[in-house]
Amino acid sequence: MQMRNAIFFSLLAIFLFSACRSVPLSSRRQLLLGSEMQENELGAAAFSEFRSEYPASQNKPMQQALERVGLAISQAAGKPDYVWEFVLLESEEANAFCLPGGKVAVYSGILPFMANEAELATVVAHEVAHALARHGGERMSWAQMQQLGLLGLRSAGAGGAWETLYGAGTEVGVMLPFSRKHEFEADSIGLVLMAKAGYDPNAAVAFWQKFSAGKMPGMIDKWLSTHPPGAERVTNLQQLLPQAWQEYQKAGQKYGLGSKFK
Ligand SMILES: [Zn+2]
Repeated sequence: MQMRNAIFFSLLAIFLFSACRSVPLSSRRQLLLGSEMQENELGAAAFSEFRSEYPASQNKPMQQALERVGLAISQAAGKPDYVWEFVLLESEEANAFCLPGGKVAVYSGILPFMANEAELATVVAHEVAHALARHGGERMSWAQMQQLGLLGLRSAGAGGAWETLYGAGTEVGVMLPFSRKHEFEADSIGLVLMAKAGYDPNAAVAFWQKFSAGKMPGMIDKWLSTHPPGAERVTNLQQLLPQAWQEYQKAGQKYGLGSKFK
């Protein structure tokens, strides 16, 4: 029995070691159990669901702005294997996302909070950064590990109380810190990405500052629930600004703040 356990854990260790990789534009190592191709397939399937659920926006100037931003960001991302799509969906929700494989949706409800194209680039680059860093795949991998741990507990004969404690512990100890880590990482990668794409990275600080100052009452609740605001976020971006500014200086084409929205 003990021998079997030893073999199991050795194989698990080899498996996990080979499943780790470094996040692009960051030095953090991450656990990925699935392949990027599998994640991209899931992303494409989920994207068509969203597109059938929400009508496409009829706002032509904003659609065109999103296409310009999308093209610039996707070129800066350097992922030729992605099949990029950028759609503006009609919804009161102030939300945006990028699914694995480069499927980006922006809900029209978030547009009133953006002053210019560079602020739209801030949001798109942040979402694209989540996909580039494969945060979705990482979360799925840790959820699988959580299940594996639970099976281990059960086979060791631990009772229900231990299982509950384990569930709560991994949620607070592993999954929650991940959300936070992923947000800061998406901010950091996104800032470099928008600068490489030729958008003034100062716009990111301006955009997030509006939120943390609470100048926009009742705004984008749903987005904020997955994207925690805060002074810390702004401080993080300000610290990264000099590096992003260098990337901006090197950009072949510069849009500055782009077109004004109001
Ligand atoms: Zn985010």
